[in-house]
Amino acid sequence: MGLKIFNTLEREVVEFVPLDPAGKKVGMYCCGPTVYDFAHIGNFRTFVFTDLVRRYLDFKEFDVTHVMNITDVEDKIIRTVRESDTSLKEFTRRFEKAFLEDMDALGCKAPTKKPRATEYIGPIIKLIKKLVDRGVAYQASDGSVYFSIEKYRGCGCHYGQLVNLNFGEMRTGERVADDEYEKESLADFALWKARVPEDGEVFWKSPWGEGRPGWHIECSAMSTELLGKSFDLHLGGEDLKFPHHEDEIAQSEGAFEYGDGEHFVKFWMHGSHLLVEGKKMQKRLGNFFTLRDLTSKGYQPREIRYLMLSAHYREQFNFTFDGLDGARSALGRLDDCLLKLGETAAGEGTADSDVISAFERELDDDFNVAGAWRVVFDWIRDRNKELADESVTAESAANALATWEKINSVFGIENVEAPVPPEIQSLAEERQAARKAKDFQRSDEIRDQLAAQGWVIEDTPKGPRVKKA
Ligand code: AMP
Ligand code: ZN
Repeated sequence: MGLKIFNTLEREVVEFVPLDPAGKKVGMYCCGPTVYDFAHIGNFRTFVFTDLVRRYLDFKEFDVTHVMNITDVEDKIIRTVRESDTSLKEFTRRFEKAFLEDMDALGCKAPTKKPRATEYIGPIIKLIKKLVDRGVAYQASDGSVYFSIEKYRGCGCHYGQLVNLNFGEMRTGERVADDEYEKESLADFALWKARVPEDGEVFWKSPWGEGRPGWHIECSAMSTELLGKSFDLHLGGEDLKFPHHEDEIAQSEGAFEYGDGEHFVKFWMHGSHLLVEGKKMQKRLGNFFTLRDLTSKGYQPREIRYLMLSAHYREQFNFTFDGLDGARSALGRLDDCLLKLGETAAGEGTADSDVISAFERELDDDFNVAGAWRVVFDWIRDRNKELADESVTAESAANALATWEKINSVFGIENVEAPVPPEIQSLAEERQAARKAKDFQRSDEIRDQLAAQGWVIEDTPKGPRVKKA
């Protein structure tokens, strides 16, 4: 079965066919976080969406290289570092660490590569040089280097591939130094920003003097350096279409040679925004939440992930606390059934291919998650019926668990563990005490005793943990 996705570049749902002639390798780039604060749940909606895409490509047995950059130098960061009493590195690493912890808590798979912009200054300068040499970038009187939209279009290149632009209303020759600007102020944008006193110690040497890169060039340099001048899939939130992604296309297609029909990126996917209780998140409205804000209110990251995965990525998503309570009860139903199946199951199961095919049919349809969850909950309802009339066997329960495992390799919802009976827990503690006292004979005896009752002890960084064999 073939995957179909909405390609922003073509503005329609198309079949996802990777560039690799063998149809196996997929290069995927997701714009990562700007690490100047804790990421909010809107940001995480986009990252959970990109994780769903990554996991589904893995599920479909593509060989995926997933690159997510860390933006650790741009306008907002510099402004905030100036107000803090730390260095750029110390400041950004703190929020990078928090971001990666939150991603992990939300069940997002680690990307294959996580390049930091500050570690790619060499490739960034190389790329700007290429653009200057090809005549589509120039150094202005303020010392900064700008991308010339007029020159780029003059070479027959297309600016405005992801969004429709009205060039009739454009004032040619204008320049914009800020990383963020609106379509209405379409203008030459900064690739290299000459050092100004407000930059403090944040600068690098370049052929155009001391300065720092613009935000847009960072992503073009990191993506082409790691995935090549043409790759399969580029993702981000809808706000990045313009100017960020449009500028990425211009920078890459302005710097490298492309044959007929060849592009910087073949497929672009954009996730819609998250609103909170119907409104844009704003600190002054009191509706601005980080993941940590929600977990401190007692919500679990798995509930937040589930809620985000319940809506189609191209639909605006309205986050509400009622929605989170609904997520808790839906997951409760799922957990309940899986725990009961776990009590009955024995041996290695085999996933039910009919259920997996139905699930896949839905996700192949441009990630129709609502349809995929319907398949899951219909299947849970049938399992519950079997559990109620006691027709579940050890084998059918094991098969059901294998089915869930396959489905959950895509949804990535953290499973809840079966509660450990008190007598098993005290045996495990006794084993731990024996090990501490170096009484290895006793500790081995207990391990065997636990195994005989179907439990194993797993050593984790947080200490030993008992779980079902
Ligand atoms: P940033 O850290 O600001 O560069 O943003 C990281 C990602 O979050 C980008 O892909 C943005 O498009 C996305 N994003 C920002 N705000 C929201 C929102 N309210 N809902 C969904 N995604 C968002
Ligand atoms: Zn980017």
